[in-house]
Amino acid sequence: MTDKIEKLKASCHCGSIRLNIVLDKPISEIVRCNCSICSKNKGFGMLCVQNDKVTVVEGFESVTEYVFNTTEAPHFFCIICGTHTHHKSRNNPVKICVNVACIDDFNIANYKGVIKNFDGINHPRDLYNN
Ligand SMILES: [Zn+2]
Repeated sequence: MTDKIEKLKASCHCGSIRLNIVLDKPISEIVRCNCSICSKNKGFGMLCVQNDKVTVVEGFESVTEYVFNTTEAPHFFCIICGTHTHHKSRNNPVKICVNVACIDDFNIANYKGVIKNFDGINHPRDLYNN
């Protein structure tokens, strides 16, 4: 019996950074977050997967990292086109969240799965809320 494996490709706008994503099933949940950085980045959706399922396969030299606040969740951007391709999950540090807008051949208009809202502005790992 063979497992169904989904292999996705993702890239930044200029194509410098290319990612491969391996899933054991089609995309069934996208996360949208309202934290300070997600809301400034067009409120994009994320596909959050185990970090060993995402690989940067091209464009390492174009990847830059932005860290802020607790520094637990570096966000990765293309130095040429500015696209935010992925970041390390702060909520679940063994996960990488990929910007679904970067996934090749993925059209949010055709997506029928779950869109989960994450209240990042009141992050569960923050010691206090303000
Ligand atoms: Zn780029």
